[in-house]
Amino acid sequence: MLERVRFAPSPTGPLHIGGVRTALFNYLYAKKNKGVFVLRIEDTDQKRKVDASEKYIFESLAWAGISPDESVKKPGAFGPYRQSERNDIYKIHITELLEKKGAYYAFDSAESLNEARTKAEKETGAFKYNYANRATFDNSLNLSEEETKARISNGEAYTIRLLVQPDIEIVSEDEIRKTVRVNSNELEDKVLVKADGTPTYHLANVIDDHCMEITTVIRGEEWLPSLPIHTLLYEIYGWDKPKFVHLPLILNPSGKGKLSKRDGDKNGYPVFPIAWNGEFEGYKEKGFLPAAHINYIAQLGWSSNAEDEIMSLEEIVDAFDLKEVQKGGARFDYEKAKWVNQQHVQRLNIEDAKSLVLKRSTELNDHFDSKAILKIVTLIQERIVLLNDIPVLCDMFLNSPKVYDEKGMQKISKLELDPLITDIHQLIQDNSLDEFKDAIFRYCKEKSIGMGAVMQTLRMAAVGSLSGPDIVEVVKVIGKNSILERLELLRKQL
Ligand code: GLU
Repeated sequence: MLERVRFAPSPTGPLHIGGVRTALFNYLYAKKNKGVFVLRIEDTDQKRKVDASEKYIFESLAWAGISPDESVKKPGAFGPYRQSERNDIYKIHITELLEKKGAYYAFDSAESLNEARTKAEKETGAFKYNYANRATFDNSLNLSEEETKARISNGEAYTIRLLVQPDIEIVSEDEIRKTVRVNSNELEDKVLVKADGTPTYHLANVIDDHCMEITTVIRGEEWLPSLPIHTLLYEIYGWDKPKFVHLPLILNPSGKGKLSKRDGDKNGYPVFPIAWNGEFEGYKEKGFLPAAHINYIAQLGWSSNAEDEIMSLEEIVDAFDLKEVQKGGARFDYEKAKWVNQQHVQRLNIEDAKSLVLKRSTELNDHFDSKAILKIVTLIQERIVLLNDIPVLCDMFLNSPKVYDEKGMQKISKLELDPLITDIHQLIQDNSLDEFKDAIFRYCKEKSIGMGAVMQTLRMAAVGSLSGPDIVEVVKVIGKNSILERLELLRKQL
């Protein structure tokens, strides 16, 4: 059987990490099973629609490298791929649902419903329009067929509600949670068709999954409560159900509560893949490689048995197995996400690393030849955690330090710095760049001072800090004039 899965976002704003994870797991499952990954835009709720979001969804998926096989942009045989364009299809199935007596007309006004809601909430804390009270409302169950028809042809406004029979056990299957049983008395007679004649989420979603021949529905756990309603609809229509997979919640780093944008803002990590509205940074702008971002997101709720957790998208596809998706919430860990990014950068071949570095530090081309640039890339590659670190790391090759690390300065100030700088200056002047290290070594031996202390002084002069790549190599790249100049600058700091 050809597996067909879908990612079905509502264009009500930017994609959250959870949305990207849902899209990714659908993609992985499709690719693993040589199936089809469909992107369907669920824009039934036109009031909540945010215009820029559809474009944003496409751009985000493109950046992440998880491209749909069928979508608005790449229509297959199951279009249209935007729900707002599928009303003709829905009409047929709404008629069918009414004929099957799976739904009924409700003429209740918004005011009368509000009144009932307020009263019920006061009395019992909750309001449900269902088997227990539907006889008290203004709906076709309480009217003759003629009366109903007459009111409709008179142009009275109505919605269509799901007719949930009382006291039946609704049994749904979820691949992760196994059998989910719910008594129908707990459900509501959900509105399936709004007063404007268009379907609500539940109805459109089920009709589309059926008509688009979706075999497996993979979505977030927040949709689990909707599953019994969807099960009922499939049963009323007499359609085969797809398999259902509800992915675990993504929790914030403390493990208490869902990962939220507020939490991200507070703690300095993005929750969107790419920038939204020019206002919120995404992973792209933070300096993540798309492959690394995806590698980390794949671990939110799934862990492979593979020894190496650093994987390319193709490797993840290969390793992916829905059976290994966990039930419990997946804790988001930004430090881990950064570490995964660093690992991906480290594993880039030198040419790819070089073009990445040059893209973010174009100035290198003005100052160094290609061989020196390669050397710089080799020196900094393992230190790049986020791509935004690149300009900072390259700066030490381009410019003298602007600030000197305070703690480092304290450490070297135990030495007699002024004469030492004079001596290092002389040693570098008198020796070639290939030989100055040996010369410093001999000098230390003669003077009985530690080589470490001298090298630290040189490092402080060169890069303004006691940490960084191999200092001898850095000096070779920046050249004699620069290092001599930087030694004198350090002297001025004393
Ligand atoms: N449109 C729903 C959403 O925005 C899709 C739910 C589903 O996949 O069934 O998440």
